[in-house]
Amino acid sequence: MARRILIVGGVAAGASAATRARRLDEHAEIIVFEKSGHVSFANCGLPYYVGGVITDRDALLMMTPERFQKQFRVDARVRHEVVEIDRSGKRVRVRNLDDGQEYWEAYDRLILAPGASPIIPPMEGLDAPNVFVLRNMEDADAIHSWIDRHDPKRAVIVGAGFIGLEGAEVLAGRGLHVELVELQPQVLPPLDEDMAGPVAAHLRDQGVVVHLGTALKSLERGADDLAATAVLNDGTRIECDLVLMSIGVKPNSKLAADAGLELGPRGGIRVNERLETSDPLILAAGDAAEVVDAVTGRPTMIPLAGPANKHGRLAGQIAVTGEGPPAARVAGTAVVGFFGLTVATTGLSVKAAQRAGIKHAHVLIRRGHHVGYYPGAEEMKLKLVYEPGTRRVLGAQGVGGAGVDRRIDVIATAIHFGGRADDLASLDLAYAPQYGAAKDPVHIAAFVADNQDRGLVSQVEPADVARLREEGWFIVDVRPPAMHAAGCVEGAVNIPLPQLRERLDEIPGDRPVLVHCQVGQTSYNACRILTGLGREKVVNLAGGYAAYAEWQRSVGQPG
Ligand code: FAD
Repeated sequence: MARRILIVGGVAAGASAATRARRLDEHAEIIVFEKSGHVSFANCGLPYYVGGVITDRDALLMMTPERFQKQFRVDARVRHEVVEIDRSGKRVRVRNLDDGQEYWEAYDRLILAPGASPIIPPMEGLDAPNVFVLRNMEDADAIHSWIDRHDPKRAVIVGAGFIGLEGAEVLAGRGLHVELVELQPQVLPPLDEDMAGPVAAHLRDQGVVVHLGTALKSLERGADDLAATAVLNDGTRIECDLVLMSIGVKPNSKLAADAGLELGPRGGIRVNERLETSDPLILAAGDAAEVVDAVTGRPTMIPLAGPANKHGRLAGQIAVTGEGPPAARVAGTAVVGFFGLTVATTGLSVKAAQRAGIKHAHVLIRRGHHVGYYPGAEEMKLKLVYEPGTRRVLGAQGVGGAGVDRRIDVIATAIHFGGRADDLASLDLAYAPQYGAAKDPVHIAAFVADNQDRGLVSQVEPADVARLREEGWFIVDVRPPAMHAAGCVEGAVNIPLPQLRERLDEIPGDRPVLVHCQVGQTSYNACRILTGLGREKVVNLAGGYAAYAEWQRSVGQPG
């Protein structure tokens, strides 16, 4: 008899499960229940549809119920919600949301792929018609048509995560003045603060007003019962015509919990490496399920499209064949672009390593995305986090222009294979002047980590400079005089690198020395000279004066 595979949720994980199951079993009966009006739509493209960058709405629909049926003989039932799992009877109760009728469907295998839902705090005013979330086609349609019909001028976006920042760009692109509110003291909370600071400065440069370290307290209504004023915890009042709530998502795991399936501490459906829940006939994948962190090896929640698609595909395979490789561990590799800036991350940040109790060190470099002599190099900042001693790569973050995504993907690959900084340093990467450098930014970051771990050089960061100055460190700027004159770390004495050996007596022998240049490379050479000549305490300013000036700007100090 044909196997009956039922799937709850018909988008990233659910649709992948359905198609994989069909490819491996032509005879299975496969039914997908999707409570929204669409299956297999491109969530990740929604902001760009709202912003008018993607003009063809249908391009977002990767599959329709009709095509699912024709191409895959998958019975995809939209506006059908699974409301109960009867595990002992191996069946689910389904509600047709159009007519309210309910019925039962039996399964041999059940795949849960119900995704996650935007978090909406209990708060006065959030039910106003001009307050939106962005999760599915209906949400995108609602925002799109609201803007078309009402021509709003001022938007408040609550939450400065990936969707909040994409939202800021697309709403600004549609002519709205955007104010962004974030509870954390930084934008993009997964990043370390030093990487996120310049991102906030960039947003401000683009005219976005950024409120950090404060939260939305209430929304006051104006004419037509619309949200008209956002009131923040710090007392700030922002006039608005449109509000986008993007403070994060929570897994849709109630259905699983009600059926007695085990959940993890953050509410995700607990699965083993075969994606089986605590009931082996029921699998789960996507934003609703836990994944195993590629660095810590611990269960966690990482709501991203890549893991959802891959795990959904694997769940479909295991449901029909009973076998498959262990579910891939997840490094949380992500990239986001807005206002010409690219921000990408993989693995652990410094703060995530701290939280996980993992020994860590890091380095920071600034490089062009290709060699400087070829026109058009765009600068990137790359932070590499590694485990001291073993030099195992723990994570990386990149901020800049072109090429940031590629470097983070290379490092993500190293993490996948348990690579060390030494492995990164020896990678054979593609190079031509218009694409990179023979010593790629990935290599440079790895060289610095390797040097640091072997005690050849130590890095300090812009935020450390004031403390070192107070502690009596002697600061040397080894750039040419013209660059020094245009701006340097306060109190730095200018001794250009070519003169360093001859002018050594200008650096007091009894004081520790902080060396800086423009981006940290010339000063590294200077550090090696000073160390080679017997100076004991010498440190390099990571990212050089460029990083220092950027940091000053991001913390609101005159640069
Ligand atoms: P979903 O895609 O949310 O699908 C779950 C579906 O299940 C939903 O449609 C829901 O209606 C349905 N459902 C829930 N409960 C039931 C039920 N009881 N019965 C029937 N149906 C049910 N990730 C990236 O990696 N890169 C990006 O650039 C990116 N951009 C994004 C932009 C936006 C605006 C959004 C919203 C998300 C973005 N993501 C991105 C995240 C990514 O889309 C999700 O991680 C991915 O879609 C998760 O897939 P999923 O199948 O688990 O859940």
